[in-house]
Amino acid sequence: MEERYCQSCGMPMGETEELYGTEADGSRSSDYCSYCYQNGAFTSECTMEEMIDVCIPPMLEANSDMKEETAREMMQNWFPSLKRWNEQAL
Ligand SMILES: [Zn+2]
Repeated sequence: MEERYCQSCGMPMGETEELYGTEADGSRSSDYCSYCYQNGAFTSECTMEEMIDVCIPPMLEANSDMKEETAREMMQNWFPSLKRWNEQAL
């Protein structure tokens, strides 16, 4: 089974339906998590850099041996390939 990540914040969502955001009609989004996307809209308008700032603390918490620079660098390389930031870049 392919691991699925939120296409906004990069959180792994897997098979847990509750982690997926909702569309305006109440169906589940297949791209975004419930923190980023609800009722068909992003919960906060932010830039990719701002999103990275928000994501660093939980990332460090989940990976206790990871350094902040490492986490930031990883996300700066990865996030531009996520759908939300990819579209913004075009
Ligand atoms: Zn998300």
